[in-house]
Amino acid sequence: MKKVMAVNCGSSSVKFKLYEMPEETVICSGIVERIGHDDAIFTIKYEDKKDTVIIPVKDHAVAVENVLNALIEKSIIKSLDDIKAVGHRVVQGGAYFDKSEPWNDDTYSKVESLIPLAPLHNKAHLVGYNAFKKVLPNVPQIAVFDTAFHQSMDAEDYTFPIPYEYTEKYQIRRYGAHGTSHKYLSQEGRKYLENPENDRMIICHLGSGASITATRHGKCVATSMGLTPLGGIMMNTRTGDMDPSVFYQIQAMTGKGYEEIFQEMNKKSGLLGVSGISNDSRDVENAAKNGDPRAILAIKLWARRIADYIGQYYVRLGGCDLIIFSAGIGENSSEFREAAIKNIEEALNVRLDEEANKNTNRGKEGIISLPSSKIKIVVIPTDEEVMIARDAYDICLK
Ligand code: ADP
Repeated sequence: MKKVMAVNCGSSSVKFKLYEMPEETVICSGIVERIGHDDAIFTIKYEDKKDTVIIPVKDHAVAVENVLNALIEKSIIKSLDDIKAVGHRVVQGGAYFDKSEPWNDDTYSKVESLIPLAPLHNKAHLVGYNAFKKVLPNVPQIAVFDTAFHQSMDAEDYTFPIPYEYTEKYQIRRYGAHGTSHKYLSQEGRKYLENPENDRMIICHLGSGASITATRHGKCVATSMGLTPLGGIMMNTRTGDMDPSVFYQIQAMTGKGYEEIFQEMNKKSGLLGVSGISNDSRDVENAAKNGDPRAILAIKLWARRIADYIGQYYVRLGGCDLIIFSAGIGENSSEFREAAIKNIEEALNVRLDEEANKNTNRGKEGIISLPSSKIKIVVIPTDEEVMIARDAYDICLK
């Protein structure tokens, strides 16, 4: 039994989960938020306890020190030597990585070179890696890329129809996101297949950031997110795909700069932008129940964009054997799931089991389609951290 830590470093946070491997037992998990502030929030969950303290945390290295000290103080580990490997989530791996890799100078410089494609995320991952290296200098670390699973796409699925020099010179193309989640779900989904050979899946990872992936034989064939997380389906605060000239017209009509419009498209659009209510789907759902017309429109729009992608991927895969719903909205909102499924019901001959749909929430897994449905539809809670821990164990300790 060996302890392995899965880590997700953001620009002002460090999330962690400590596993006993290869059993995949979760020993503890937690988060340090508001890094860079005197009132950072450190929460750790272990056994049945949840401790939260407000402490000054000047940078990521201090955050990591606090996490590791807490593990010892709370007798979760005996010494730092107990931690045998660390795996980091990395958002953008570009075309360099089609699988997880050990952190070394080469990995570091490639992740660094991709900062222009994911400025906040990749910078934070490097800071996080350095912070762990400082505190655990002899422990092997690996990078697990959100884009790696999508590297199996064909050129016609990842190339944008822009002047080709941009594709060549600046690597402007579709990379996708949530790849670790889509990979996990494509593996978990296999148990629902009647014939393992017919394994065409459409996987809907619907969190506040959301993407849909088409998979076959466990590999990504197409995915909805593009160069950045702005592309694809409509999200809580992001537009998803639309006519690119909207960008130009808003600029021309309002005189706003491209940075401001880009921020609006990322942070003030989607469910929030259309409803004008909230960036949380639960608030929009409640407003729609109370008859708010813009909340109703926002949900209809959201559902139709999802149906568009499911239809597109049904054609791309030449059929579909399983549709999976997952992540915050996909795992918890029967209403949002129903809205999306209603839009594909007639064309794809799918039948929702309304009772099962209502009862499959909050971490529950199961089938939500009727036996008469031409395609089986399931809800599977995602688990990106266990994938990180598995890769860290396989690469460093096996
Ligand atoms: P991300 O990892 O992209 O932040 P999550 O997968 O955690 O996203 O999903 C967060 C979103 O899921 C929330 O903004 C909310 O819209 C939705 N959500 C979370 N919990 C629930 C719930 N219990 N019921 C309905 N929707 C939920």
